[in-house]
Amino acid sequence: MQVLYKSTRGNGETVTASQAILKGLSKDGGLFVPTVIPSLDVPAERLAQMSYQETAYEVMSRFLTDFTEEELKSCISQAYDSKFDTEEIAPLHKADGVYFLELFHGATIAFKDMALSILPHLMTTAAKKNHADKEIVILTATSGDTGKAAMAGFADVPGTKIIVFYPKHGVSPIQEKQMVTQKGNNTYVVGITGNFDDAQSAVKNMFNDQGLAEELAEAGFQFSSANSINIGRLVPQIVYYVYAYGKLVKSKAIQPGQKINVAVPTGNFGNILAAYYAKLMGLPVNKLICASNENKVLFDFFRTGTYDRKRDFILTSSPSMDILISSNLERLIYRLTGEDAEKCRELMEALSRGGEYTITGEMKAGLEDFYGNFCSEGETREAISATYYGSGYVIDPHTAVAAGVYQKYLRDTEDSSVAVIASTASPYKFTRSVMDAVSDRYQGLDDFALVDALSTLTGIKVPKAVEEIRTAPVLHDTVVAASEMPDTVRKILGIR
Ligand SMILES: *Cc1c(COP(=O)(O)O)cnc(C)c1O
Repeated sequence: MQVLYKSTRGNGETVTASQAILKGLSKDGGLFVPTVIPSLDVPAERLAQMSYQETAYEVMSRFLTDFTEEELKSCISQAYDSKFDTEEIAPLHKADGVYFLELFHGATIAFKDMALSILPHLMTTAAKKNHADKEIVILTATSGDTGKAAMAGFADVPGTKIIVFYPKHGVSPIQEKQMVTQKGNNTYVVGITGNFDDAQSAVKNMFNDQGLAEELAEAGFQFSSANSINIGRLVPQIVYYVYAYGKLVKSKAIQPGQKINVAVPTGNFGNILAAYYAKLMGLPVNKLICASNENKVLFDFFRTGTYDRKRDFILTSSPSMDILISSNLERLIYRLTGEDAEKCRELMEALSRGGEYTITGEMKAGLEDFYGNFCSEGETREAISATYYGSGYVIDPHTAVAAGVYQKYLRDTEDSSVAVIASTASPYKFTRSVMDAVSDRYQGLDDFALVDALSTLTGIKVPKAVEEIRTAPVLHDTVVAASEMPDTVRKILGIR
């Protein structure tokens, strides 16, 4: 069965998977969605026996139907290799009665690696298939983790350049150091004086700017996106939920067919949307638990049916979730409208014009697959310390938001089905918040001393990704206002 892709704001016109990956965002400003969600017709007993790479092929081949078996398997084997520090790629760790699905064993020790290690291969394969002759320029706004993971994926990939914008005052010191030390002759990192939403909006505007696209085309370039709106990121993220299910069956934690709950620390709504797609494919999932930090726009939306971004942007200890406009939610909204692109466009335009929209009661009924809640900063700290003192396991603040929200879910529902918590970053990426939550005796230490203290505390070796940046020279120091981003791009590409 062929799966095609159409825009959430389009007229039903379809493109192939490879074209959707190349374009990133549809010309009409909408996001690409599959015309049908393929079903996961693989018995759980077989999933239980599969490696990560085999699972990836089963899931991805059902969505990316214009890739040949050879192409897809080559992308998978180039992505999920020794860049990961464990052969399991995404191991499950049981602690405190729940299963933490560790998605941070890749090159940059955050879950973005799961998709961004394969996206460059999908994209260059897609370019070849479609005879694209222009150099691909990846334009990315990052709240801290995407940018580094995208650069790690694209660095020195022939036929590509990558430009990353990050909020200068909105990322952790380790995240910033990771970015500004990025090597590669095709990587560019720019700090901006605004917040993540400012950077993301400016990137979206550049994608929608036809004049700029023409300037680029004349100079031999075309934009593409490595942000989580790209279907080439969403599809690889479905894989690990299927894989985790298989491993739970294998270890006899569940029976084949038994439903599990999944809790996801959410920002742009990409990771949890992938879990939702896994459920739509037929994976036995009961609730999708959507965990927010104090930027709790999604919690309010699930409760009231009104999405309202008109509020203060709060800098928290889980910066990769400091987001007020969750781009991928548009894909869920589109589904809730019964795939009415006109209605979806109206809602999204209301959001960008007036800062809010409200869905109908009928649409709201479609949200029953989800449970939303949030953790305050204090509750996040408590979740870190409770997990550590309860089981000796140290989790990062993003994962802690999900762990804290999961406890609220348990209290609210008493639904004690087996639960998987998406564990999205290594605690080594956020040592300050983690160590402060564990004890107040670490307060005087600098970020790298904290790294060593964490290693002593847990007995886990400092990951290579952190060891490398200790002494690495800063290679990128440009900082601009969000309004200067288009001209910065022109300058980097040598246009004008
Ligand atoms: C990006 C990120 C998230 C949020 O994921 P979304 O797909 O944007 O919802 C959560 N935790 C970490 C560590 C991240 O890097």
